[in-house]
Amino acid sequence: MKRKGVRNLLRSPSSSPVAQDGTKVATKGFLTPSGLPDAAWRRSFRRRLLSWYAASARDLPWRRSSDAYLIWVSEIMLQQTQVATVVPYFERFVRAFPTVEALARADEHDVLRLWEGLGYYRRARQLHQAAGIIAAEHGGRFPRDAATVRRLPGIGRYTAGAVLSIAFDLPEPILEANTTRLLSRLLAYGGDAASAAGQRLLWTTAAALLPDRRAGRFNQALMELGSEVCRARLPQCDACPVRMLCRARANGLQAEIPPPKRKPPTESVHEAAVLVRRRGRLLLLRYPPGRRWAGLWDFPRFPLRATEPAAIGRELEENVRTLTGVIIRPGEHLRTIKHGVTRFRITLDCYRAEYVATDGATARAGKPPVAPDVEIRWLRPAELDRYPLSTTGRKMARLAGVVGSG
Ligand code: SF4
Repeated sequence: MKRKGVRNLLRSPSSSPVAQDGTKVATKGFLTPSGLPDAAWRRSFRRRLLSWYAASARDLPWRRSSDAYLIWVSEIMLQQTQVATVVPYFERFVRAFPTVEALARADEHDVLRLWEGLGYYRRARQLHQAAGIIAAEHGGRFPRDAATVRRLPGIGRYTAGAVLSIAFDLPEPILEANTTRLLSRLLAYGGDAASAAGQRLLWTTAAALLPDRRAGRFNQALMELGSEVCRARLPQCDACPVRMLCRARANGLQAEIPPPKRKPPTESVHEAAVLVRRRGRLLLLRYPPGRRWAGLWDFPRFPLRATEPAAIGRELEENVRTLTGVIIRPGEHLRTIKHGVTRFRITLDCYRAEYVATDGATARAGKPPVAPDVEIRWLRPAELDRYPLSTTGRKMARLAGVVGSG
C-alpha cells in the first residue's frame, strides 16, 4: 500500500472498516474515538500476550530477580545494546558490585573497566553517580516514586517505568524501541513515533494497555514480543499471538510501519595514535569529562592531515607534544585499524615512537599546559589490563604487548 493509504486509514481509525484505497481492516481491534483500543480489544490483547510470554519468555539473568538494583543495571546496559552482548557484561558487573552500596563505593576507574567494550560510557558514569545518590540520600534503597527516580542521573521515563513496574509491580507504562514499533503496528500508526503527537499517542496507549496487576510482567512481555516477533525487519506475523488484533497486519502495512528513518550521512575521519615507549613503559592519557571516551584511557590520538612520511612524522611530533607535553622521535607505522563511532567511519593509523624528553613548560607545571585537564601516565604493557581503555586503545594495548617492551 502507498503512504497515502496509511494516512487515510489513520485519519479515521474508529469509523472505517475499509481504508480509502479499498484495503480491508481487521474485524477486531477497532479503536475508540480517542484513538485508543477499546476495552474488549485490551482484554483480549493482555490475555494473548501474557499466555504467549508464559510459554516463550527467554531465561535472562536479570529476570530471575525482582531486585530493583539488578533490574536497573540491566536496563541501563540494554540501552542501545543487544541482549546477547549484555548478558556477560551484566553477570561480571553485578558479581563485582552486587548492591547499590557496593557500586556507590567503587572507583569510577573500576566501573569503567567492567563496562569497557559496551560503549556509551556516559551510561556507566551516570549509573555510578546515581548509585552514590541512592546510597547517600535514600539509604541504599531504590526509590519507589517515579518523580524521584527520574531525577537520578541517566534515568528517563522509560527506565523509571521499567524498574518500578518490574521490581515493585507499580502500574508504570514503558515505551522503548521495541514497544514503539509494536504499538505503532498494532494501531497502524504510520506517523512519526518520535514526534510530540506520536509520543502522546503511544505513551497513552502503553498506559491504557497495562493490567491492574503484574504490570512488570506485562511490560516485559510487550518488550519481548516487540524484540522477538514484531521485529523491525520481517515481523513474524504468522507466529504472533496478537495477529488477530493487529491493524497493520490486517492492512498489509507491517513493512511500512514504522516509516524508515533518514540516516545521517556517514563521515570519513583519518586519525593517528602513537605508542610512545620510555624504558619499557608506554604513554597513556585519560580523557577529561565532556570529551569522547571521558574517563577512559588511551594512547595519544588526534586527527591526521599529512599524507607524506616526513610530514606525518612532524605532525605526530607536534600533536603528541601539544597533547601530552612529551617530545618524541616518531618511528614505524604499525597497523591501520578501521572502526565506526556513531556516524563517523574512522581510519586509525598506529605508529611507534621513542621518548626523547618532556618539554620545559610541562616539566615545570607537572602536566601539559595546553591540555591541563588531560591526565598522563607511563604504564607497563602488563598494567594496561587493569585500566579502562577505549576500544581501539585496547586493540593497541594488545599490539603494545608485542611491541611495547624493551
Ligand atoms: Fe507485529 Fe505482525 Fe504481530 Fe502485528 S501481527 S504485532 S505486525 S508481528
